Amino acid sequence: MSKVYFKAVDSYNKTEEISAAAAELLKYLTEEENVELEKFIPLKVHFGEKGNSTYINSKNYVGIINYLRGKNIESSFIETNVLYKGERTTKEKHIKLAKEHGFVELPIIIADGEHGEDYTEVEINKKNFNKCKVGKEIANKKQIIVMSHFKGHVLAGFGGAIKQLGMGCASRGGKLAQHANSIPKISSLKCKACKACEVKCPEGAITVINKAKIDKDKCVGCASCMAICPHGAISNSWLASISKSFNERLAEYAFAAAKDKNNIYITFAFNITKNCDCEGHSMKPIVKDVGIFASKDPVAIDKAALDTIDKDNGKTVFKRGRYTLEYAEKIGLGSQNYELIRMV
Ligand code: SF4
Ligand code: SF4
Repeated sequence: MSKVYFKAVDSYNKTEEISAAAAELLKYLTEEENVELEKFIPLKVHFGEKGNSTYINSKNYVGIINYLRGKNIESSFIETNVLYKGERTTKEKHIKLAKEHGFVELPIIIADGEHGEDYTEVEINKKNFNKCKVGKEIANKKQIIVMSHFKGHVLAGFGGAIKQLGMGCASRGGKLAQHANSIPKISSLKCKACKACEVKCPEGAITVINKAKIDKDKCVGCASCMAICPHGAISNSWLASISKSFNERLAEYAFAAAKDKNNIYITFAFNITKNCDCEGHSMKPIVKDVGIFASKDPVAIDKAALDTIDKDNGKTVFKRGRYTLEYAEKIGLGSQNYELIRMV
């Protein structure tokens, strides 16, 4: 059974208190489970898309950064480029945005290089992939602290540690591979031919004449068009049929990103929004804040976060994507069986 450590805090706590709680969880976990710490441990974070306001602010990581410094451990923020057009598609723009968003406490590494070309093929020999393209600067590390913001996700159902590993550590090509076959549908009744999707599509797969149309041979299923359409004309009705396949691919990539690493997972479950931090606009939280989780097990920490959110809100909040946990457990990424240790 995996252990998951938890401290109840919410986004209304002072940032210093949140930061101290995260550091306390890290300290407790490393001491309790005798985790050997490497001399260099990057923090896998998400810098938030331009316009997003609910990503985890870097000030919340200061306690952890100071804890590592106190042990003479060097660190950096580490991230990979995204698939869709935006401010985080290339290394230069990505670092610029990260700094604008306040990520100035540590050096920044974009793990898959300028345009996603730097990756290592990690052999896993699973059902969907034999090899996964993991950002080179992540693949060559022995230990990473994976910082996740728990929230919903249009494709994965929810995003926590597994999502941060699987999609977040994949090179651009790895992200493409995970999205394969996920082609959305456009409602000709709802489409107003505004062309926002045509401009946004990273693959030039959409043409708008009277109505938008997707070229299925070009579409890589990145879902950017779904996020951008102002009229809700691009549907996720395909999710039901492909979600299991997508969730399996995500879990396999998470397995690859964590392979042979002595990782630590810290998940912030507050400002829990319907969609992810890649959305370039602000979103209202959909449920109550919960707290911070820490674990050595990415499956256990996601399960604990889902269960705690449901319990605190008296309902099943994120209904889709739970198969990811089942499949991740099956391939050996971690365990859904956990003990929750509440810290006061
Ligand atoms: S963004 Fe939506 S409304 Fe605009 S062209 Fe595309 S599908 Fe049609
Ligand atoms: S048409 Fe396909 S490739 Fe283009 S934005 Fe939509 S999902 Fe992405």
